Amino acid sequence: MIAHLDIDAFFAAVELHRHPEHRRKPLVVGGDPAGRGVVATASYAARRFGIHSAMSCAEARRRCPDAVFITPDIGLYRQWSARVWEVLGQWADATEVVGLDEGYLAVGDADPEARAAELQQIVRSRMRLSCSLGVSRAKVVAKVASDHRKPGGITVVPAGHEAEFLAPLPLRALPGIGPRTEERLRAAGLRHIGDLAALDETHELVSGAWGVQIHARARGIDPRPVETEPSERLSVSAERTFSEDIADRRELERRGSEMAARVSERLVERARAASTVTVKMRFPDFCTITRSETLGAPTADAAEIWAVAARLLEGALAERPEPLRLLGVGVSGFDRPRQLPLFGRAGRPSWIAE
Ligand SMILES: [Mg+2]
Repeated sequence: MIAHLDIDAFFAAVELHRHPEHRRKPLVVGGDPAGRGVVATASYAARRFGIHSAMSCAEARRRCPDAVFITPDIGLYRQWSARVWEVLGQWADATEVVGLDEGYLAVGDADPEARAAELQQIVRSRMRLSCSLGVSRAKVVAKVASDHRKPGGITVVPAGHEAEFLAPLPLRALPGIGPRTEERLRAAGLRHIGDLAALDETHELVSGAWGVQIHARARGIDPRPVETEPSERLSVSAERTFSEDIADRRELERRGSEMAARVSERLVERARAASTVTVKMRFPDFCTITRSETLGAPTADAAEIWAVAARLLEGALAERPEPLRLLGVGVSGFDRPRQLPLFGRAGRPSWIAE
């Protein structure tokens, strides 16, 4: 089965973590309400006033003059998103991230309700975010289902019931049907996804490659698998461009060991260990070099990563004794994901260093 996971009012939820003082107020993440900005995300408190994504911020303010308006900080949302998918990646057989706040997970066929509840609980306990899930054997149905009971809902569509689930929903609920297509279909007398599904295969509205595909999807047929990025291609790194070049060795070591600690933390979150350590250095003339070393056995340990990185750094600085503009520590060459079925007391997976 495939689960589609969608974080509820993601940008607004992240902003509420940063600004807990706004928790009780309607919150709108978007452009300037005095200018021509549009709403990126409205919190559920703001949605009660009829505020929704893509509405002009000026209109949002008319509907709710007390709403708090915040300019989007996409960099911050990216960081949160990366963490969410790192964490989820270790709990699903495969993950396919399709947006900052949504993606597909392969969850197996046994007890999909329980699996979905487990994933929801992981996002809640580890990231303090609410999400909704839809589960189906068809990707498109999982996507529609995750939107079915928002926020915080789980909708499982049992195998064989895909068409039945979609049939009563409005045409626009089906991904791929935009306002123009909807207009065309409505002009032909169609109102619900079921009307589209019921069209004869020879009908001109469902001819052509696109027509055949949307007709199949309306019937809950979607053979696309969850496509995950192979882990060998992934790497984890931390780097920093300094506001002023750093020549002091002790300061570089302090920064470098902090980076190694961050890298280690992220490996632990992904339940991975890495076998190659890379140090990246940029000199005042912008010349950038990297040095790598492959370990005898993979590790996720901060001290071990730093020991190798420090040696590489020292070697490079011995050859070129200059200050650094940038320092980075990274790892690659991951071993297979580890099974970490238990949560530690702090809500993090228990981790035993080997
Ligand atoms: Mg969302």
